[in-house]
Amino acid sequence: MDQEFMQMHENWKHIVGFGPRMMGSDAAKACSRFLEAEMAKITFRAFTESYDVEVWEQDGWQLSVEGAEGLKSCLFLDSGASAGFEGTLEWLGKNRLWNMYSWDRYGVTDREGKTAAYVTVRGNGEAIPQMLFTGGDLPHYLVGLEEGERIRNAAERKAKVAGWAKTRRQPGKCRNVVGSLEGVRNGKKIVICGHYDTVYNTPGAYDNAAGAAVVLEIGRRLKKDYQLNAPIELLLTDGEEFDLAGARNRAEKESKDTVSMNLCIDGVGREKVMEVWSGPESFERRIGEILKGKKDEFETIFLCPPPPGSDQEAYYAKGIPSCMLTFNDQGILHSPKDVYSLDKLENMKVMVRTVMLLLEGLKIAEKKR
Ligand SMILES: [Zn+2]
Repeated sequence: MDQEFMQMHENWKHIVGFGPRMMGSDAAKACSRFLEAEMAKITFRAFTESYDVEVWEQDGWQLSVEGAEGLKSCLFLDSGASAGFEGTLEWLGKNRLWNMYSWDRYGVTDREGKTAAYVTVRGNGEAIPQMLFTGGDLPHYLVGLEEGERIRNAAERKAKVAGWAKTRRQPGKCRNVVGSLEGVRNGKKIVICGHYDTVYNTPGAYDNAAGAAVVLEIGRRLKKDYQLNAPIELLLTDGEEFDLAGARNRAEKESKDTVSMNLCIDGVGREKVMEVWSGPESFERRIGEILKGKKDEFETIFLCPPPPGSDQEAYYAKGIPSCMLTFNDQGILHSPKDVYSLDKLENMKVMVRTVMLLLEGLKIAEKKR
């Protein structure tokens, strides 16, 4: 095994080992304790910051469509509950997520003509949990692209649809783990972040135990071998999957006067294509110039502005230059298939090298002689 990355590898396995880590769950709490202990080894000030939030949980669901046996479905995060409903499907229009997706949305109309549940068809892959932004007072299911045809067909032939959903909301905690590295000069800080929480059905090895382990590894290297020209804050967030709860809470007190830039690692998957999402354009140009000098063999795709569904959005919305890096892997996103595997580890190493290259190129970190 590569000695150089042994600690990162161990940390990653450990985080994955907690299993699904929904905001507010015992697993997320246990994970935050582990991360704080790791953070304390590399930063002079490590702490956990807790926020009071409404925690959403699910205890199972069912969606059955007559004539479409074995239909796979997931509950949206923040879906409402129902002891039971019955009706027929009706196409209502579109469900818009994160300003990025626009997916077919059906209602289940009951005998009184009222909507009793919703079904959205994912436009790009299998049924997976996603965040709901539509209010969630009724059950809301997500089915995969391939099931879309069966749903459309069931709506046309007025097939009987039935189901239930057990969900609840209760007061709980969102826990960010924070650590600081001192710069030779004080002043605006650089925030490097990655979320450790997951959706309910996956240990989230790629999304985003990998990113959290990468952030810790970056901190370790910075502390050991570098002199920093500005303070760096390492931030491991909770509740990213729940409308960026952790990052939004943390960024609330920040502004362009306190944070000079945000770097976010979200998802280190198996593909050999690194997506570099950044903005504004002046910042994107600087990032682009540095990454053109990279030595690693992988394809880079530049996208501007950064996406609304990752933690850097909380900072970018305040006018803070932001960059999100990912090895996107839609095939295992929010899926039980997102487990520990060595091909991801190789990309995690590339991610660490890339961020170090960026920090040097941006003159934030200089190698000690
Ligand atoms: Zn993520």
